[in-house]
Amino acid sequence: MIDQYTEVYGVIGNPVRHSLGPVMHNAAFREKGINAVYLAFEITDLKDCIKGVRSLGIKGLSVTIPFKSDIIPFLDDMDDLAEGIGAVNTVVNEKGRLKGHNTDAAGALRALEEKTDVSGKRAIIIGAGGAGRAIGFVLKQRGLEIVIANRSVDRAMQLCRSLGCEFIQLDNLPDAHGDILINATPVGMSPDMDISPVSEKAFKEGMVVMDIIYNPFKTRFLAVAETRGCMVINGLPMFIYQGAEQFGLWTGLDAPIAVMNEAVKKRLASGS
Ligand code: NAP
Repeated sequence: MIDQYTEVYGVIGNPVRHSLGPVMHNAAFREKGINAVYLAFEITDLKDCIKGVRSLGIKGLSVTIPFKSDIIPFLDDMDDLAEGIGAVNTVVNEKGRLKGHNTDAAGALRALEEKTDVSGKRAIIIGAGGAGRAIGFVLKQRGLEIVIANRSVDRAMQLCRSLGCEFIQLDNLPDAHGDILINATPVGMSPDMDISPVSEKAFKEGMVVMDIIYNPFKTRFLAVAETRGCMVINGLPMFIYQGAEQFGLWTGLDAPIAVMNEAVKKRLASGS
C-alpha cells in the first residue's frame, strides 16, 4: 500500500520504457514487505535529475544507457569497483550522500560461474561500452585472459590499455581462439532480433557463449552458437543477479531472487 511513508527508488535512462527494473524490484519489495516503490524515469537533463533525487530524498537509483559514466561527477562517493570500471549502474542515497556502485560486474560473473568454471580461461568480449567494461574488469580480476572485440577501435583500445589485454577486429573473430565468448552490445535486442554481431564462424564447438541481452531470451547470436555446439547462457541471469546486488545495497537484505526471476520471466513471456 502506497502511503506517506513509502520510499522511492527508480531507474534513470533514455530510453528507459523497455526496462524491466520496475517489474523486478517492485516484486522484490512486495515479497519482503518493504514499503517502497521503484519507478522508471526517462530523463534528458542529468544535472537536474540528480538535484531532484537529492531534494526529494529518492533512496536509490539504477542507472542505464547513456548515463553510466556521465553520472560520476554528480556523485559524492564511489566504491572501488565502480571507480576501476569507470561506470556506475547503482546509486545509494546514504542520508543525502550519493554513492555509486557497479553491480553489472558481479551479476555477469555470477551468471557465468553458475554454468562453467572460469578459472584459467580465455574470454572474448564483444563490446567496449559500460557493460563490456564491467565484464572485462571483473573477469580480469578473476584471473581470466581477456580479448576485446569492438566496432570502434579507439574505444576498444582505451579499454584494452586499462585492462592490459588484447584487441581484435570484429571481422577477425573467426580466427580468434577463446573458451568463452560474450556479446556485450545491443545487437540482436528486440525489436531487431534477426541480427547478430558476429558471423557463425566465430563460434567453435565447446565454447561457452553468453549474450547479456535478455529480450529476446534466445538472441540470434545464441541460436547460432547452439547449432555450432556451444553451451549458451542468456542475459536474464545477469540481469537478475545485478538486480539482487542492488536490492542488497539499498535494503541490507538478501534479495528474493526466485521471485524476481519469476516476475521478469512472466513479463517477458507475456510480450508486453
Ligand atoms: P553502451 O555503453 O552504449 O555500449 C554499447 C556497445 O555496443 C559499444 O561497444 C558499441 O560499439 C557496441 N555497438 C552498439 N551498436 C553496435 C552495432 N550496430 N554493431 C556493433 N557494435 C555495436 O551499452 P552498454 O551499457 O554496454 O549495454 C550493452 C547492451 O547490454 C545493451 O543491450 C544493454 O541492454 C545490455 N545490458 C544487459 C545487462 C544485463 O543485466 N543483462 C546489463 C547491462 C547492459 P562502439 O564502441 O563502436 O559504439
